[in-house]
Amino acid sequence: MNKPCCLLINPWIYDFAAHDFWAKPLGLLYIAAWLRKNNWKIYMIDCLNPHHPQMPFEPQVRSATRKHNGTGKFFRQIIPKPSFLSHVPRNYYRYGLTYRLFLKELSRIPKPDVILVTSGMTYWYPGVFAVINICKKMWPDVPVILGGIYATVCYEHAVEYSKADFVIKGPAEITLPSILEKMSYPKLECFSDSLYPAFDLLLPLDYVCILTSRGCPFHCAYCASNLLFPTFYQRSPEDVIKEILFWHQKFNIKEFAFYDDALLVNPEQHAIPLFKMLAERKMNANFHTPNGLHARFITSQIAKLMYQAGVRTVRLGLETASFKRYDQKLTREEFTQAVYYLLEAGFSPKQIGAYILIGLPEQNISEIEETITFVQKLGIIPRLAEYSPIPGTRLFKKAILNSEYDLINEPLTHNNSLLPCASKTFSFEVLNRLKRKIWHTSCI
Ligand code: SF4
Repeated sequence: MNKPCCLLINPWIYDFAAHDFWAKPLGLLYIAAWLRKNNWKIYMIDCLNPHHPQMPFEPQVRSATRKHNGTGKFFRQIIPKPSFLSHVPRNYYRYGLTYRLFLKELSRIPKPDVILVTSGMTYWYPGVFAVINICKKMWPDVPVILGGIYATVCYEHAVEYSKADFVIKGPAEITLPSILEKMSYPKLECFSDSLYPAFDLLLPLDYVCILTSRGCPFHCAYCASNLLFPTFYQRSPEDVIKEILFWHQKFNIKEFAFYDDALLVNPEQHAIPLFKMLAERKMNANFHTPNGLHARFITSQIAKLMYQAGVRTVRLGLETASFKRYDQKLTREEFTQAVYYLLEAGFSPKQIGAYILIGLPEQNISEIEETITFVQKLGIIPRLAEYSPIPGTRLFKKAILNSEYDLINEPLTHNNSLLPCASKTFSFEVLNRLKRKIWHTSCI
C-alpha cells in the first residue's frame, strides 16, 4: 500500500518588521517527525527559507543576510498595506519566498493527500490565508489542516475566514489523530517527546532550536504560553543532551537556541544538570536563550554553568522595573542580583539583554523611561518589545478597553507595531526617540 503523503507549509509573514531571531516552525517540524514515524511521506515548504538558491535572482527582493550566530534577515518584498494600516509610517512587507517561487515549489511536489499549514502571530494571518488560497486553487479536493498560534488564539476567526478544512486549537498532537482518522487514515501512534523535530527537512541549517520543556508554570496576564501549552512539562536533561549531540555530530550544527518559555524553572532537576553536562562536553557550539529567562532563578552557580556550557546570548524577561506590573514573576532586586551573577560569571554586558514590554494598557512613558534607565545603569542592553494583545489572555479585556482598534474582530489590529493599546501620548515619534536613546547609549 502506498504511503499517505502530507505537505507541511510554513507560511509567509506579512508585517512591518520581522527578523530571523532563531525563528523556526518548531511545532510543524515535530508534527513532520511524528507523521514520518507513522509511515507518512512528508514534503515541506518553508516560505521563510533564507537559503533558497533562486531567491537572490528574483526581482525587487531585499536580501537575507546572515550573522555568524545563525540569526539574520528574511528575504522580503514591499507589498501594499491593508487599508486601515495606511497611517503607519513604515513599509509593509511579505517576508520569504516570492509568489512565483512558492508556486514553483508547489508544482515540484506530487499531489499530497493532506496539507498542514502552521501559523504564527495572530496578525500574520494574511500570509496563512494566501498560502491556503494557492493550495486550494492548485488542489481543490486536498484537505487543508491549519494549526499554530493564530489558529489557537483566534480559532473562530480562522474557522470563519481561513478556508482551511480543519482548524486545530491547541497542541496538534491532541487533535490531529482524530482528524486523520476521520479521513480514514490509520491511527497514529501516540506522540512521544523522544522524537526530534524534522530539521533535516530545512537543510541547510544555520542553527537548531531545542525545546527542553513545554509551557510555563507562571500565568502572566499578557502571555499566551498557557493557552498554547496548558500543562507544564520538562524533558529529562539526558534526553536533551542526546538531541543536541545528534544535531551537532550528524549535521555539524554549532548554534542552538533554547525555545523554552521556562528553561530555568525547577533548576536542580533540569537546568543545572543540563548545563553541567553541556559544560563537561566542551562542545564547539554556542547556545542562545532568545525567549527570555526568569531572572529570579539565576543564581551564581547557574550563571557560571551557563557560561561554561557555551551560552552566548542571554535574554532576561524584565517587562518593567515599575512596581505596577502585570505579573508576579520578579522584583527589581532579583533582577539586579541576576545581572550581577551573569557579569561575575564572565558574560559581557553586550551578551545580556533585558526585554522591556512597551505599549501595555495604562502604561505611561515615564514608567518605560525609568525601566530603560534602570537596565542601562546595570550596564546591560534594554530590548524594547512592543506589546501585542492576545485573545484569551487575562489582559485582553483591559487591552480592548484601552484600544481604539477592533481587537476582537480583526487580528491585524494586534500588530505590535501599531502599539494598539498604548496611551495617546505614546506616538511613533516617542517610540523612535526611546529607540534612539537606547541605540546611542548601547554604542558608546
Ligand atoms: S513567565 Fe514568561 S512564559 Fe511564563 S507566563 Fe510569564 S511571560 Fe509567559
